[in-house]
Amino acid sequence: MDAIIISIGTELTTGQCLDTNASWLAEQLSDHGARILRHVTVTDNVDHIATCFREAMKEADMVIATGGLGPTPDDLTREALAIALDKPLETDQAALRQLEAFFARLERSMPPANVCQAMRPQGCEILPNPRGTAPGISHSSSSGHFFILPGVPSEMRAMFQQSIEPLIAQLATGARTARSRLLVFGISEAKLGELLSDLMNPGRSPSVGTSAADGVISVRIVARGESESDARRLLAADVDEVRSRLGDSVFGEGEDTLADAVGSMLLEQGLTVATAESCTGGLIAKHLTDVPGSSGYFIEGFVLYHNSAKTDRLGIPREIINQKGAVSEPVARAMAESCRGISGCDFSISTTGIAGPDGGHPPDKPVGLVYVGLAWEAQTEVRRLLLGDHLTRDEVRDRACKTALNMLRLRLIESQGRP
Ligand code: ATP
Repeated sequence: MDAIIISIGTELTTGQCLDTNASWLAEQLSDHGARILRHVTVTDNVDHIATCFREAMKEADMVIATGGLGPTPDDLTREALAIALDKPLETDQAALRQLEAFFARLERSMPPANVCQAMRPQGCEILPNPRGTAPGISHSSSSGHFFILPGVPSEMRAMFQQSIEPLIAQLATGARTARSRLLVFGISEAKLGELLSDLMNPGRSPSVGTSAADGVISVRIVARGESESDARRLLAADVDEVRSRLGDSVFGEGEDTLADAVGSMLLEQGLTVATAESCTGGLIAKHLTDVPGSSGYFIEGFVLYHNSAKTDRLGIPREIINQKGAVSEPVARAMAESCRGISGCDFSISTTGIAGPDGGHPPDKPVGLVYVGLAWEAQTEVRRLLLGDHLTRDEVRDRACKTALNMLRLRLIESQGRP
């Protein structure tokens, strides 16, 4: 099956928006054994879009286009498809009723501009949108299948999974692909390369590759097999091998976060956590509470930015701050211990550091110096991080936050429920 992916929108051609739809769709289609002939990005111009559609229909068995299905005048995709197919646009009554029902559920009247979203070229089908107002459109003929999905990534994915994937699974023949992305934190990319070097040899199958972003390393494994079960079996063997070589530094797969990993372990073990943050300004609490169900283990978070807050709220002795400075090992330790005492939690996390760009006093206290504390019943561990002044303020805070979550994760693995 040959496929072409078309992304529509001036925000894409001008570089204001990154085309993540095309890469996501390409992965999905490849997994089903499709050969991607081309990615095309086209501006909001009805004639250009129609030309693109006509050319793609001639060449590919399957064309998937995204974007331009909204109710505004720059949403021209429906009209372009009508031109490409040489069919008039007509209103789909069922789609119109669904649109009206969508607005009724929100207790709003439907703006007249939205009526056009229920239109499709004659002979086309409407694809329901489980996440928004813009229905998709499909057209099938002896020469192939044509789909138009909304531009909004979450709507596009939901519609693909609901309406297109089942059809593709039926059509697909030939080799299948299975892929996995393991997420790693706490070791360098160079060290990881050493540990996986033979698996990463060019030409090896399954292929194993790494990339790093925001302190997290992704290990991508792609296996191809004669059938789906064959590909999955090859993938599973490599996933096991990589996991055994990297050990506890693997914290998850796919879209998992460190907070997800920490959250599920705390929940499983019936343990609780609180935070006392200075330089991370509540970021750790934010990450923890990003996870649905986090009220089952996250009790409370303090942001203690000024020295007076550290002494008044947490009771950190003023002498320690005066003697050692607010960014110091004893202050991180005292913050974690005091927070644990006040909250009554099993664990508490603290941070104090210099996020920059100003405020550093090298060599003792450079920008990027952060102390992260983790207190539990038996002990308090404090790590000194020298993150470097090449990182931005956001990056320093992000790395400190991830390191803190990872310290808790490793502790939970080690203690197996016995803090
Ligand atoms: P809506 O009715 O919600 O406007 P739509 O189909 O008209 O749906 P667009 O207006 O084309 O969608 O895009 C809406 C937003 O979706 C864009 O502003 C952009 O943020 C995002 N988007 C569109 N296309 C892509 C893409 N290819 N990759 C990533 N994001 C995209």
